[in-house]
Amino acid sequence: MEEMTREKVRCLIIGSGPAGYTAAIYASRANLSPVLYEGIQPGGQLTITTEVENFPGYPEGVTGPALMDDMRRQASRFGADIRAGIATEADLSAAPYKITIDGEKVIETETLIIATGASAKYLGLADERKYAGMGVSACATCDGFFYRKKNVAVVGGGDTACEEAIYLAGLAKQVYLIVRKPYLRASKVMQERVFSTPNIKVLFEHNTVGLFGENGVEGAHLVRRKGEPDEEMVDIAIDGFFLAIGHKPNSDIFKPWLDTDEVGYIQTIPGTPRTRIPGVFAAGDVADPHYRQAITAAGSGCKAAIEAERYLSEIGK
Ligand code: NDP
Repeated sequence: MEEMTREKVRCLIIGSGPAGYTAAIYASRANLSPVLYEGIQPGGQLTITTEVENFPGYPEGVTGPALMDDMRRQASRFGADIRAGIATEADLSAAPYKITIDGEKVIETETLIIATGASAKYLGLADERKYAGMGVSACATCDGFFYRKKNVAVVGGGDTACEEAIYLAGLAKQVYLIVRKPYLRASKVMQERVFSTPNIKVLFEHNTVGLFGENGVEGAHLVRRKGEPDEEMVDIAIDGFFLAIGHKPNSDIFKPWLDTDEVGYIQTIPGTPRTRIPGVFAAGDVADPHYRQAITAAGSGCKAAIEAERYLSEIGK
């Protein structure tokens, strides 16, 4: 096999959401000459949202893409080397840690900041792919606007599903909330808001088995009380189908080396971005099942860069 190209760096950051870019701002200002690979979705999850109203410093709000562009430019200004590319393999058996990029290049790094984020989960139906961008979405705030005065469905029974259903109810004519269990997992306040919104209809004990439509989604095939004696097929007419069944942390390539919880979130030493491997840090949604906010991700990216700087000075590199 052909020898892969190799490059040695002091600080490698993987991921380009608020955690990755904030780590890059701090690491470049600390003279760590960080290299950052942007990953599958440059700018991360915020690039698929519209208005961000809760990020401090933007009293009038800011769009997700503009916010991420600001962070990127701020990191570049201090010399962060921002590159396109996806981390496809990791070898954290010993320092320097080895990360393969796009299956063709190996970066050897003294410190590693994992800021690979999380991705929305899908049910795994072939129809979700068939109708991608034609009525299937995992982000109500991004795409809800297209469904004004139309009928939509949201899948899930957690806080995200309730929040998205309530948001869509303000735009759409009718919202169905498709819940597989006979109850909602969401917090009480969110449940109450859902139940008191007249144009949300909760379909408990319903599972989606397919979508149909000529040019885009026109409806969904559901099964009520699947596997029970009174199981029945139910079709609903909808124009939009929104997934809100949770997120999957992008931690797969690191799992052989780091501790992860049952969902795959990287476990760090509480209150810090330190993993069990010295010099390897995890920041943002990949290590955060609880808060998952742009500002908390940015905060943890800052902590990771400060930790990386201290670690490098301790080992004298
Ligand atoms: P959750 O994991 O809390 O909920 C996921 C929901 O999707 C559950 O109802 C689950 O069903 C359902 N689900 C999962 N897989 C499937 C499937 N294959 N088919 C059908 N249904 C499925 O995720 P959320 O994204 O809602 O929330 C994540 C975290 O973020 C939570 O801690 C939440 O509280 C928090 N959050 C808080 C908000 C707020 O306070 N405003 C807003 C948004 C999130 P089941 O119950 O049967 O497992």
